Amino acid sequence: MASEVVDATAAKPRGGRFCTVCNDRRPALKRPKTLEQICKECFYAVFEDEIHRVIVDNHLFKPGERIAIGASGGKDSTVLAYVLSELNIRHGYGLDLFLLSIDEGITGYRDDSLETVKRNEIQYGLPLKVVSYKELYGWTMDEIVKLIGLKNNCTFCGVFRRQALDRGAALLKVDKLVTGHNADDIAETVLLNILRGDIARLSRCTSITTGEDGPIPRCKPFKYTYEKEIVMYAYFKRLDYFSTECIYSPNAYRGFAREFIKDLERIRPRAILDIIKSGEDFRISTSTKMPEQGNCERCGYISSQKWCKACVLLEGLNRGLPKLGIGRTRGLNNESNKDMKETNGTKGLQSKQCGTLDF
Ligand code: SF4
Ligand code: ZN
Repeated sequence: MASEVVDATAAKPRGGRFCTVCNDRRPALKRPKTLEQICKECFYAVFEDEIHRVIVDNHLFKPGERIAIGASGGKDSTVLAYVLSELNIRHGYGLDLFLLSIDEGITGYRDDSLETVKRNEIQYGLPLKVVSYKELYGWTMDEIVKLIGLKNNCTFCGVFRRQALDRGAALLKVDKLVTGHNADDIAETVLLNILRGDIARLSRCTSITTGEDGPIPRCKPFKYTYEKEIVMYAYFKRLDYFSTECIYSPNAYRGFAREFIKDLERIRPRAILDIIKSGEDFRISTSTKMPEQGNCERCGYISSQKWCKACVLLEGLNRGLPKLGIGRTRGLNNESNKDMKETNGTKGLQSKQCGTLDF
C-alpha cells in the first residue's frame, strides 16, 4: 500500500498537481477504484458518500430499525461499524446499531480479535453481543479441530457461524444484520460459483440483501466498496482493527479466485465492478431446480433438508462420527447428494482468507 500513498507533507508545489476532486489540497493517495490522485479529506468524503448512496438507492434501512453489525474485529467490519455510525448520525437514518460477534473458540485468534471488538464497543459506543459456539453447540473450534484435524474444519465453522449469527441477531431482536462483505469478496464469489457450476448460489450471491424469506435479512453496504480502499480508510483514520489470519485457515482452495481478481484489478481496476455486474445480469433458466426451503425438524432452523446442516454436523461430532454430513457419507438426510451440495456451497462462502473474514 505504501507505494500508493503520496507524501502529503511536502510543501505545496507551484504549478504542481492538486487533488482531482477539490483542486486545492495536495493529493495523499491514488484512489484504487478510479486511480485519481486525491487528498485525504476528499477520499473520506467520496468513500463515505458512495456507501451512503448505496444505502439510500437500495433502501437498505428504514428509520427506527435495529441493526446488528457482524463484527469480527477485522478491517471490513471495523470500518463498517465506524462508517455506519457516522452516516447514521450525519444523515439521520434513525437506526439503533449493535455489534454482534461470534466466538468460535479459536485460541490465539478469536480471543485476540474479540478484544479488538470490545474496544470498538467503547470507541463507537455500540452495544456488543457475543455468542459462542461453545454455548450454542457445546463445542469450540479448538475441540473440533482436535477431533477432525485440519480438513473440513472450515465447513463446520462456516455452517455454525451462519446459524450463530442468526441466533445472536434474534437475541438482539434486530430487524437486519449487516456484514462487511466488500466488492472483492462478491466478485470472488461470483467467479467461484461459475467455476463450480453452482447456479443457485450464483443467482443470489450478488444480491445486496438476502434472506428476506428467512428469520433475519442480511445486507452488504460494502457491495461496491473496494477492499484496498477499506484498508486505506482504516489506515488513514487509524481505526483499531485486528489483522491476523485464523490459525486454522486452509491454504489450498481459497486463494485462486482472489489472486485472479487481484491480477485483473492491477490491469483494470473496474474489473471488480464488471464481474459483479456480470453476476447481477445472469438470468437463471427455469429448468434449474432451486432447493425448497423448510425448517429443520430438530432445531427449527431454516433448511431445505429434514435436518439442517448444523444439526447433521453436530450429530456427527457428538456420536464420534465427525465425517457424517461431510462429503459423500450416507448421512442423516437420505438425499445425501443435495446435502453434499450444501456442504460445498458453504465452503464457497468461506473461500476468502478467513483471517480477515468478516462473516
Ligand atoms: Fe473458521 Fe475461518 Fe478459521 Fe476456517 S479459517 S476455521 S472458517 S475462522
Ligand atoms: Zn481534495
